[in-house]
Amino acid sequence: MRGLYIGRFQPFHLGHKGVLEKIAEEVDEIVVGIGTSQASHTPADPFTAGERIAMIYGALRKLGRWFYIIPLPDVNRNAVWVSHVKSMTPPFDVIYSNNPLVVELFTEAGMEVRRPFMYKRETYSGTIIRKMMIEGDDWRPLVPEPVSRIIDEINGVERLRNICRSD
Ligand code: ATP
Ligand code: MG
Repeated sequence: MRGLYIGRFQPFHLGHKGVLEKIAEEVDEIVVGIGTSQASHTPADPFTAGERIAMIYGALRKLGRWFYIIPLPDVNRNAVWVSHVKSMTPPFDVIYSNNPLVVELFTEAGMEVRRPFMYKRETYSGTIIRKMMIEGDDWRPLVPEPVSRIIDEINGVERLRNICRSD
């Protein structure tokens, strides 16, 4: 059995890792879809698809399940999005999501949707982590160690601050 988990992973954090460890107990193989993969260098999507792939491989090295990472560019047309996702991913039996739009679209398509447990949502949140990076707070404890290493390698915090500046 194969399960799909989709996120933007801007950046990949310990909430995502917690969800994936739980999914690993329920399925044989995991498909990780990188949503909005075309975007980078914006305040909401600072990291490229390739950088996010490196974060996820680093963080999931010891997951103990075979996994695929598939970039999923936006189609900006919700009615055809499920077909788009299916056209890019290995066949899957179940999708894991708490995102209301994702849940709605896959349910309408007749797929089994499971709702993952939310881990410390007040801090394990991409929005909060990006805000902490901009404000100089200590975001590192909120992400797996390989993720902070990659963000340092690409000067990610400096990039985010630069693109959030006003002219
Ligand atoms: P952003 O604030 O940028 O939207 P995010 O933390 O919601 O970031 P996403 O990449 O949007 O991260 O999340 C992918 C999936 O992971 C979504 O289904 C989201 O609901 C879920 N998720 C996010 N944070 C957690 C968490 N702390 N625990 C469990 N699931 C989470
Ligand atoms: Mg989100």
